[in-house]
Amino acid sequence: MTEATSRLDLDGNNVSPLTICMIGAGGFIGSHLCEKLMWESEHTVLAIDVYSDKIQHLLEPGQAWSSRIEFHRLNIKNDPRLEGLIKLSDLVINLAAICTPADYNTRPLDTIYSNFTDALPVVRYCSDNGKRLIHFSTCEVYGKTVGSFLPKDHPLRQDPDFYLLSEDKSPCIFGPVEKQRWSYACAKQLIERVIYAEGAENGLEFTIVRPFNWIGPRMDFIPGVDGPSEGVPRVLACFSNNLLRGEPLKLVDGGVSQRTFVYIKDAIEAVFLMIENPSRANGHIFNVGNPNNEVTVRELADLMSEIYCKVSGRPMLEVPTIDISSKEFYGEGYDDSDKRIPDMTIIKKQLGWEPRTSLPDLLHTTLTYQHRTYANAIKQAISKSIAS
Ligand code: NAD
Ligand code: UDP
Repeated sequence: MTEATSRLDLDGNNVSPLTICMIGAGGFIGSHLCEKLMWESEHTVLAIDVYSDKIQHLLEPGQAWSSRIEFHRLNIKNDPRLEGLIKLSDLVINLAAICTPADYNTRPLDTIYSNFTDALPVVRYCSDNGKRLIHFSTCEVYGKTVGSFLPKDHPLRQDPDFYLLSEDKSPCIFGPVEKQRWSYACAKQLIERVIYAEGAENGLEFTIVRPFNWIGPRMDFIPGVDGPSEGVPRVLACFSNNLLRGEPLKLVDGGVSQRTFVYIKDAIEAVFLMIENPSRANGHIFNVGNPNNEVTVRELADLMSEIYCKVSGRPMLEVPTIDISSKEFYGEGYDDSDKRIPDMTIIKKQLGWEPRTSLPDLLHTTLTYQHRTYANAIKQAISKSIAS
């Protein structure tokens, strides 16, 4: 833990302590952001969420930062306290969302309401009260790459113009409406457009963040341990769960989709730069990812299996992976982004940010955490089910 010191922005000016209203503070990204805010800054957080487990360690009384964090258990869908908390703050960070792909095609209405309808009042309160907003969108707003529509071996697929995802140039390409996977991306895109329009027409000071597969400790849940047994989290937790239980990792539709993964702690550095450098961050949309950490999902499975063997001392499974259709795994209406490489030009220019951690290193740290946190609980759950 680093000692909190007075902080300077990128132009050498002192950063005054801010009061930050963080909505969705109890989630994966929120928990890491709260940690850094408490441990390394003098900022105050009004933390809003329906859950607090992932930040409970920061909320215990008597800690050096206790006077700077306040938890408000509220559902932003229907709680009149929200506007009051926004009025008390200098900056609002909105992370609240339904953001696991298993929900996009099976709970499309909840997904749309959560990512669009519930975010609307937050934008409006910020605009009406002159508050700065950092809103979390997603890389999924890009949808599919232009190159994905070319024949499989077409040489233009290698041309960055056909796959690199740029905030100010790339189109947003979604599948048909019956592919309800795109309910999330579409809702996120529309709220981005509302925020952008509030900036243009009413002077809202905003920054939009497009995370590209941020991963690390505390992401999602392990089914049957700290989440529902039938729940389907994002790929890191799905594969971790398989590894912890000694089951083959399931490759959806052959595991050919490609992703770039960034370590949560690198990504949080980028958010800090946005918080503390409003003059450089306002009015911008930022890709935040690690273009150097690209793998297919199959390669990710192989790498995680190899690293988990080292971390746990267990042997490699005889059958490390199995194929499964998306219909069987996610149900009707699933579709996928083929490839996600972020263009880093804008964030490098505005904030000088670059990710540092390689995929093997971040997986080593994360799988060590998963093993320490869950291996015993899973062992007990397995022996209980054998006994019954
Ligand atoms: P998360 O699910 O861990 O966190 C979201 C938090 O919001 C949860 O704690 C949830 O309880 C809370 N929340 C949801 N609805 C709420 C409501 N109505 N009232 C109060 N709290 C509510 O997800 P995360 O990975 O931390 O993602 C945070 C944001 O970043 C989301 O907007 C997501 O779409 C975006 N994002 C994340 C990634 C990633 O790589 N992790 C990728 C793309 C986009
Ligand atoms: N995936 C998989 N097996 C799993 C979970 C996910 O093959 O057990 C695939 C999924 O189909 C997608 C990729 O992994 O191609 C990443 O999925 P994730 O849930 O992390 O979210 P996304 O990156 O699609 O938003």
